[in-house]
Amino acid sequence: MAEQFDVVVIGAGPAGYHAAIRAAQLGLKTACIDAALGKDGKPALGGTCLRVGCIPSKALLDSSRQYWNMGHIFGDHGISFKDAKMDVEKMVGRKDAIVKQFTGGIAQLFKANKVAAYYGFGQLQAGNIVKVKQHDGSEVELKGTNVIIAAGSDSIELPFAKFDGETIVDNVGALDFAEVPGRLAVIGAGVIGLELGSVWKRLGADVTILEAMPEFLAAADAEVAKVAAREFKKQGLDIKLGAKVSKTEVTGKGKKKEVVVTYTDGEGEKTLTVDKLLVAVGRRAASKGLLADGTGVQLNERGQIVVDDHCHTGVDGVWAVGDCVRGPMLAHKGFEEGIAVAELIAGLPGHVNFDTIPWVIYTEPELAWVGKTEAQLKAEGIPYKAGSFPFAANGRAVAMMEPAGFVKVLAHAETDRVLGMHLVGANVSELVHEGVLTMEFSGSADDLARICHAHPSLSEVIHDAAMAVSKRAIHKAN
Ligand SMILES: Cc1cc2nc3c(=O)[nH]c(=O)nc-3n(C[C@H](O)[C@H](O)[C@H](O)COP(=O)(O)OP(=O)(O)OC[C@H]3O[C@@H](n4cnc5c(N)ncnc54)[C@H](O)[C@@H]3O)c2cc1C
Repeated sequence: MAEQFDVVVIGAGPAGYHAAIRAAQLGLKTACIDAALGKDGKPALGGTCLRVGCIPSKALLDSSRQYWNMGHIFGDHGISFKDAKMDVEKMVGRKDAIVKQFTGGIAQLFKANKVAAYYGFGQLQAGNIVKVKQHDGSEVELKGTNVIIAAGSDSIELPFAKFDGETIVDNVGALDFAEVPGRLAVIGAGVIGLELGSVWKRLGADVTILEAMPEFLAAADAEVAKVAAREFKKQGLDIKLGAKVSKTEVTGKGKKKEVVVTYTDGEGEKTLTVDKLLVAVGRRAASKGLLADGTGVQLNERGQIVVDDHCHTGVDGVWAVGDCVRGPMLAHKGFEEGIAVAELIAGLPGHVNFDTIPWVIYTEPELAWVGKTEAQLKAEGIPYKAGSFPFAANGRAVAMMEPAGFVKVLAHAETDRVLGMHLVGANVSELVHEGVLTMEFSGSADDLARICHAHPSLSEVIHDAAMAVSKRAIHKAN
């Protein structure tokens, strides 16, 4: 006999654990099932984000940044040192400790909120029953008045570059290299490729990024992408655009293993020999084995669970959120969908505003944006005005030796309402939220321009950019 819950959540990643905790806060009897195991072989909640995504990548980005700064920035501050060394095992150990702290934190939050945790693989059956194959081999059945599917996503594997966990890897392997690879190739100049490529570049690897598309970071504002490409080049990241990989071959044994990568660019077929290959060509919904026959839940051609604007699958009481449904594969998008669905189930007005979801790439400099790009506004025929301001003219940025980049504010030509904000520079992962907030409150560029910003602070760049929209920036010629 299946145990009855108000809400059964499949997956305890960002989308699933937010849904479960919020549902429990609202007084709903809630269970959450997760199949993942940590590096120690024990169940680890928190999904891709906490185990092998957002948090561990940022931990390594921070370690590698400290190391890079020693060699590239410290001297200008008058700091000298002898024999800087990178202990990769210690760096990865620090990352693992952070992962353990946060995955364990979710287990504690489940306990505190009385979410019943089940550890194993869940499969939705007809009639809102979830069959759980637990890690000890036993099976349990949970019946949910509501079931929220939050199964997340897996790395896409290329047929000619199969993951072996050692030489050809995805994010999981690239977060755990035992030493700095001499030569690293990355397939895909997207967020994951750029962030993890940066980590190993800063630590001394020779990094080549092969990107099939002819344009760099097509989703970002063109000027932001241009500045980023220039800065990455200065750092020695070799980004080859229009480079289509067709074959890989692992040769040699043990420490002498190499990968020969064959790719074609505008000049014809070429090969590149490296010690490690990271394949970062995207992720796909983890829907394999998730649905038994007869559930009525539909998958689209990309394997994503089909949902409406409120994350409902069309099957009574069955919802889906996060990376396994349409929309950006971002942890915070999953957070908001998880909360919104829990609130809808409880009879509250849950909603996610897709127009104000921020995007961030945590490279050096960071890239961030919210809302529409100039190209999108032009394509949609929306009249706009733009104001931008460089970090090079901001006292705080120059004092920090972070002069690269700029902020651009896009506002409607007639109403002045902010339609987008595009940033590249220091700490823009934090600064972008001024744009998010302004857009959420339907604010104008003039509203932003009239808000007092602390001096000296990086946020003044936003202030000046907002003033530049109406050609009244103080610290540059308009
Ligand atoms: C290297 C890397 C860096 C990233 N950095 C960022 C970043 O900086 N910011 C950002 O916003 N996003 C980032 N992301 C993306 C982010 O990790 C995902 O968008 C986010 O984790 C999606 O959350 P989710 O809950 O939908 O799915 P997931 O986090 O994938 O969680 C799904 C969970 O469900 C479990 N599961 C799946 N199927 C079943 C089943 N049938 N039964 C039981 N359990 C199941 C899985 O084991 C997993 O634990 C990054 C991703 C990677 C790979």
